[in-house]
Amino acid sequence: MTGHGPALDAARAFADRWLASLPTRPVGVPADPAALRARLGDLPDDGLGAVEVLDDLTAALEPGLVASGGPRYFGFVTGGSLPVALAADWVVSATDQDAAVAVMSPGAAVVEDVAGRWALELLGLPADAAVGFATGAQTANIACLAAARHALLAAAGWDVEAEGLAGAPAVTVLLGAGAHATVVQALKLLGFGSRHAVRVPVDGQGRMRPDALAAALDAVTGPVLVCAQAGQVNTGGCDPLDGIADVVRSVGTAGLHVDGAFGLWAAASPTRRHLVAGADRADSWAVDAHKWLNVPYDSALAVVRDRAALVAALSVSSPYLPLSDLDPSTRTLENSRRPRGVPVYAALRALGRTGVADLVDRCCDLALRAAARFAAGGVEVCNDVVLNQVLLRVPGVDVADLARAVAVDGTCWVGTTVWEDAPALRFSVSNWSTTADDVDRSVDRILALRDELAARDP
Ligand SMILES: *Cc1c(COP(=O)(O)O)cnc(C)c1O
Repeated sequence: MTGHGPALDAARAFADRWLASLPTRPVGVPADPAALRARLGDLPDDGLGAVEVLDDLTAALEPGLVASGGPRYFGFVTGGSLPVALAADWVVSATDQDAAVAVMSPGAAVVEDVAGRWALELLGLPADAAVGFATGAQTANIACLAAARHALLAAAGWDVEAEGLAGAPAVTVLLGAGAHATVVQALKLLGFGSRHAVRVPVDGQGRMRPDALAAALDAVTGPVLVCAQAGQVNTGGCDPLDGIADVVRSVGTAGLHVDGAFGLWAAASPTRRHLVAGADRADSWAVDAHKWLNVPYDSALAVVRDRAALVAALSVSSPYLPLSDLDPSTRTLENSRRPRGVPVYAALRALGRTGVADLVDRCCDLALRAAARFAAGGVEVCNDVVLNQVLLRVPGVDVADLARAVAVDGTCWVGTTVWEDAPALRFSVSNWSTTADDVDRSVDRILALRDELAARDP
């Protein structure tokens, strides 16, 4: 062992090459998993040197890497890494802090506390809400719904943490028909069951209808949990949260959760925040940082208005772990964990209020630009492009064939979905480095590949 320098230098050399290649390399060419596996070698009897391992590893990995952090990756809602956030993430790895409790890393606990407060301000959420850093909106949804489960059952006189769910008062869960699969997953894991959740009808943009929610609630007695959404994965549509909050606040014991994985960032933009008006009236919010805030994977925030409910649901207790408000593990699913809030702090400090608004606005404007160019090229834009999502139907070709041709071509990458029972393409703009030229080149290439496919298969 000769210190960290040579291994870190090898990693840095690879990172520099990789990052520099993002604007020009083929974005996501399909790779054969068996061929990738064959490049990784065997478990050696005697270990190898760090630099040799890193060089072999990066060489073996590279053919299987997708330039998803680059400017022409439009798949899912992915985001990239702001340089400052990536660098801060390296600091997190280098310092190897366990952010479970403040005494293990006062620095990490305080940075996360500050980053959480700043995020609340940008998102327009209550300044005294509790924030737990999570790995993604999936675990943020679980954390938030665990807090909701605690609060609703406590109000009904039931201590769910102590008693479990057997014999507990039934909580009726309602969610929009366009809700994300990870909310359903959270309901499964928390014992609400996925089958019992009432699916509330949505409008043509996948947004929950407040009138339909009111009608669904008419028949319900007992505690109620409503899961709304800001940013539908196909359309970018945001549930009308003010109207939904009106309905929820008119019934007895009811909680309102917002899955705002990417859409809630609209609140940071003066020109887009009307889309999420009323969000601050909810009880909890799940928000990703690794998508639209462009910090490295993985990172999200679970925000809960009632700090005591989140702490009751998630805090571990043990004589050797005296916990205070500053201790992150009172608000997270994990006990030991890396301080994911550190890159969030770095991103927010580097962008400032204006920079976050610009990032949101730029992506939305580029989505509008893509939609206009697709429409001019004879592709049907199926959604109102209000955020960063463009949903497309392509007459005359199979969208799965088109998405495959786009992937093999390598200029850009787009995903597929099913919208209103028919296949569609999803084009999502969520990377800080994407330019108008990237969008134009990508749309033009997709249209050209569409023409090639249509000519081959008339
Ligand atoms: C991406 C997404 C999720 C899941 O987030 P992860 O970060 O993948 O865990 C949940 N809800 C919505 C609306 C999303 O877009």
